[in-house]
Amino acid sequence: MKRTATFANKSFFEFDHASLDIGAVAAIDGPESLRTLGVPVKPLGIFADRWSQFLADVQSQSLPPHAAVIGAGTAGIELALSMKYHLDSLKMDNPVRVSLIERADAVLLDGTARLRKLLTKALGHAGVAVNTGASVTHASNETLTLDSRNRVPSCFTALATGARPHAWLAQAGMATHEGFVVVDPTLRSVSHPEIFACGDTAHLGFDPRPKAGVYAVRQGPVLAEQITRLAKGEALTIYRPQSDYLKLISLGRRRAVAEKWGLAFNLPGLWSLKRHIDLKFMKN
Ligand SMILES: Cc1cc2nc3c(=O)[nH]c(=O)nc-3n(C[C@H](O)[C@H](O)[C@H](O)COP(=O)(O)OP(=O)(O)OC[C@H]3O[C@@H](n4cnc5c(N)ncnc54)[C@H](O)[C@@H]3O)c2cc1C
Repeated sequence: MKRTATFANKSFFEFDHASLDIGAVAAIDGPESLRTLGVPVKPLGIFADRWSQFLADVQSQSLPPHAAVIGAGTAGIELALSMKYHLDSLKMDNPVRVSLIERADAVLLDGTARLRKLLTKALGHAGVAVNTGASVTHASNETLTLDSRNRVPSCFTALATGARPHAWLAQAGMATHEGFVVVDPTLRSVSHPEIFACGDTAHLGFDPRPKAGVYAVRQGPVLAEQITRLAKGEALTIYRPQSDYLKLISLGRRRAVAEKWGLAFNLPGLWSLKRHIDLKFMKN
């Protein structure tokens, strides 16, 4: 059967096998004003550009150093701490205000109690204002209004509200789980074996895992191996996701906490370790 992939400019190419590695998009729940003014943390390139523009506006004193993060999962907490550290380091006359807003009654609801305690302490120490059990009902250029009617100052609002699949995946006819492509242990779609899926795009139906880069990067070499094997007419290899992984969460002051096997640590040297791992990954 002839299989084709068509680009937005209508050009197309034929393929025997393809792999979908298009990641996920930020889930954006909230009022229209927040959807318009909030900056999703993904795609990262756009987020980084908007953040750089905000920093430039703060430095030129066009905007006050007031920012907020919606969503207090690992990404949101790490981001709030980093933003606070960065804004503090600008040493502006206007006081820095960074707020973290979470709908649930606690930050990091899916984390261990020990990690939650460490990160809550770090947020307090950094001076990030944490609002739990709170939702944004309206956003303006300088303020977020919460359902409690409290107002939070923010000229840059990051949306770290979780990962959602690209909408078109569910409409493409492949088997999906909550919109993500269900794959077998060879990373092929369970309904369309000619299609592979990796990283955040894939749902590991045989052994589900959270959406995290550590799984995505380990799947890359497996995908390369499968392509080689297909070309040689050999049987495909089996991917076995690691059961746990070392989480290193930056606290923004050249400090980081680590968690693995349910244990969490705040030790000197962890930030350098995280930096080393991240830079090595970027260089590769
Ligand atoms: C703030 C933040 C911090 C994080 N920190 C960590 C961490 O410390 N450790 C960790 O393990 N994970 C972390 N994650 C999660 C991690 O970023 C993702 O799990 C990882 O990036 C998934 O990799 P991926 O290749 O599947 O998708 P992505 O990295 O999202 O890459 C997908 C790419 O596909 C492109 N694309 C999309 N649609 C199309 C299309 N139609 N055609 C062509 N290209 C397309 C996108 O532009 C993007 O470049 C973090 C996430 C966030 C938001």
